[in-house]
Amino acid sequence: MVLEMADFGICENPDCQLSYRSLSLTALFSRINAISGMEKRKDDVSGILPHLKPFALFFQFGIHCSRCGEFLYRVIQPTADLQTESEEYIRRSQLNALLEAGYQLRAWGILPFDAP
Ligand SMILES: [Zn+2]
Repeated sequence: MVLEMADFGICENPDCQLSYRSLSLTALFSRINAISGMEKRKDDVSGILPHLKPFALFFQFGIHCSRCGEFLYRVIQPTADLQTESEEYIRRSQLNALLEAGYQLRAWGILPFDAP
């Protein structure tokens, strides 16, 4: 299995403001879903995309979190070997989903291609 390495990462520290567990990220997923749906219907999304910009700060370039200094999670890790109700399964699933969201934000031009 080939693991894909993102050049951005997500803070794993649950106590950090930029954590993957931040409650404001719920809104990110619902917005991504809404915009993806609009794209499928060939609606114009250019006016809505800027609303995703505030979430860009959760996707950090570098090795350590700019807020708390923890290592960033940057590789989608397998969950198949974990029990689906386990804490680790939930943690990895959330982090993986966020990395996927990061790729989507990049595709829409919200995240830069190179470290700023
Ligand atoms: Zn942090």
